[in-house]
Amino acid sequence: MSNPHPDPVGTSHSGMIISTLELELTGRCALQCVHCYADSGPAGTPGTMINDDWISVIDQGVALGIPQIQFNDPGSP
Ligand code: SF4
Repeated sequence: MSNPHPDPVGTSHSGMIISTLELELTGRCALQCVHCYADSGPAGTPGTMINDDWISVIDQGVALGIPQIQFNDPGSP
């Protein structure tokens, strides 16, 4: 797949500049911080995403020219 954005920063369809695609792989975390931005905790789950969904999201990020992908794994503060 060719990158339609040769510049080092991706641009969304609405024109927003995107530098990083952050993927929350699971909601499971050993801690239960009251300030948690992801509402994670010991009862958290990976959600409904399957491998093909993650691959599709990554492909879409690449197509937008987003230069960096960060895989977030709650529970490792
Ligand atoms: S460690 Fe991070 S992911 Fe886990 S509950 Fe606290 S803020 Fe949420």
